[in-house]
Amino acid sequence: MVIPPSVSVLFPPGGQRILFVQAHPDDTDHLCGGTVARLVEEGKDVFYLFVTRGDKGSDDPEMTPERLSAIREQEQRHAAEVHGVKEIVFLDGYFDSEVENTLTLRRELILAIRQLKPDIIFTFDPWRRNETHPDHRAVGMCTLDAVACARNRMSHPEQLGDGLTAHRVKELYYFATDQPNIWIDISRVVEKKIAALKCHESQTKHKDLYKWVAEKGLVAGVGQKLKVAEAFNRQTP
Ligand SMILES: [Zn+2]
Repeated sequence: MVIPPSVSVLFPPGGQRILFVQAHPDDTDHLCGGTVARLVEEGKDVFYLFVTRGDKGSDDPEMTPERLSAIREQEQRHAAEVHGVKEIVFLDGYFDSEVENTLTLRRELILAIRQLKPDIIFTFDPWRRNETHPDHRAVGMCTLDAVACARNRMSHPEQLGDGLTAHRVKELYYFATDQPNIWIDISRVVEKKIAALKCHESQTKHKDLYKWVAEKGLVAGVGQKLKVAEAFNRQTP
């Protein structure tokens, strides 16, 4: 396949530690699992952080939020193993469909940034038109706010010391964006993306994953003549 010269198919160098901040288990694996596969392949250290355990994501009348939380955490741990994710963090005390951009959540995200020291963060595009899920909007915006504060030593100085310093994130990549400016060719890693998605059985068991990945990948890459792609809005904060 001939790739037009304007298309970026590789990440810029300089980012070794990469953190994906997500609202629910499966967000990243659905929206950019191909990119995760490529990053791991390139030897990057990938970290996943989840604000909730996706405790409302079921139509089963017998299911309870408590049981679903445990199931989805386990499914996500499996999927992260398939991908070769280095570390996975679940915050406590936040619930599916109830996430807000609060100072409490921001403080926790600042702490996570200072602990994990990512060069690059991927998260939801908080400005995407028609982003219907409140958790996606809140997590995207709160992550951006945390990135802005984590680099300031006077912001939450009580967190600093014992190896923790203020930390500057070099780049932000928004996924689920309607204003992409970078496209990643995932055609080589489709199988890996699907293998990780299969781990999220409670969410994907009735889904034709090959069809879904092919269709979404085609839509994302069509303007760049890529057959299967994932699209992002890349910013330097
Ligand atoms: Zn989600």
